[in-house]
Amino acid sequence: MLKKGTKLYSILTGSCPKCQLETMYVDKNPYQVGQLFKMHERCSHCGLKYKIEPSFFYGAMYVSYGVGIAFGVAAFIIAYVMLETSLVTTFIAIVITLVVFMPVIIRLSRNIWINLFIKYNPEAGTTT
Ligand SMILES: [Zn+2]
Repeated sequence: MLKKGTKLYSILTGSCPKCQLETMYVDKNPYQVGQLFKMHERCSHCGLKYKIEPSFFYGAMYVSYGVGIAFGVAAFIIAYVMLETSLVTTFIAIVITLVVFMPVIIRLSRNIWINLFIKYNPEAGTTT
């Protein structure tokens, strides 16, 4: 399912949306919170500039809203529907989920955001 060349691959791995040959981030692990927003300036394989324009990644905040809701709904289903906890416990579970997964949500949002604008090109990165 997770095949190279699909947008899903780039979104889930945080790899360059154009050539998918390397990660966009200085530190792949989102839980190195100090490095959370540190990205390489350009892809060393295809030369793609990640920050297409100044404050490009501010737009990722709109995406993170949707991603956050998806995580919240997942937490709700697990806690309330599957584990049959009370509404208060479910609410706490949702809040904890959002806090714990915050770095993942932020990274995912950035990956989704940049993949909305840049298409995968299998030839990119092979010539240079
Ligand atoms: Zn690249």
